[in-house]
Amino acid sequence: MNIDKLSHRLQAVAEYIPEGSRMADIGSDHAYLPCHVVKKGLVPFAIAGEVVEGPFQSAKKQVESEDLTDKIEVRKGDGLAVISPGEVDCITIAGMGGALIASILEQGLDKLEGVSRLILQPNISAQSIRVWLMDHEWKLVEEEILEEDGKIYEILVAEKGEPLQSYNQEKLQSELLMGPFLSIKRTEPFVKKWKGEMNNWMRILSKLEQAADTEENRQKKEELHNKLRMIEEVLG
Ligand code: SAM
Repeated sequence: MNIDKLSHRLQAVAEYIPEGSRMADIGSDHAYLPCHVVKKGLVPFAIAGEVVEGPFQSAKKQVESEDLTDKIEVRKGDGLAVISPGEVDCITIAGMGGALIASILEQGLDKLEGVSRLILQPNISAQSIRVWLMDHEWKLVEEEILEEDGKIYEILVAEKGEPLQSYNQEKLQSELLMGPFLSIKRTEPFVKKWKGEMNNWMRILSKLEQAADTEENRQKKEELHNKLRMIEEVLG
């Protein structure tokens, strides 16, 4: 991967960045994504945020070597601390766990003023993000799932709005888990992901069946049975 040819995963994220927007890429690492979209002329200005010194230095070097320092600012800091309210209208956060992405958004709530689109790519636990979006009046407007190098990635795109509009109320729990758009599209990577999860959970269930019959185990088994039922219903 380089800035001219992104990974499929980052390319898919890039495609949801509205043309002409001012963007911040949080946890940017080598700053491939902001360099790519700025170099292509899709966005006029970007901030690349990084909290760890090594990736921060990589991002700075990348931006300097591409001669993009007048259009991309590389800033060191935790999550949304690197941006001021109103400074950007689109935020991307990719390649982290869903719970971490949700906590970055939660801690930076005041920085989301003026932001009209979030593009979030969790490696695991997209559900944590869907729940966060729902609690904070961000509406999911699109979801994508793709497989690259044997791993499956989800991309969630959200805009300010009534979150419930994206969900079928009768299937709220399963759609929070699996994604309202993804559950309808049921693409190949989606089916593969959830069949894999079902297998994992069935393995855990069979271990729990053999373990002592405690209240805690009973609750865990019930929880897993419920999740398995939800997935079976969606996969059909
Ligand atoms: N976004 C790039 C991508 O998708 O290819 C890089 C993903 S990399 C696996 C995750 C990056 O997020 C790391 O460079 C890490 O230092 C950074 N990171 C983790 N927590 C962060 C936080 N709270 N604020 C800013 N950056 C963070």
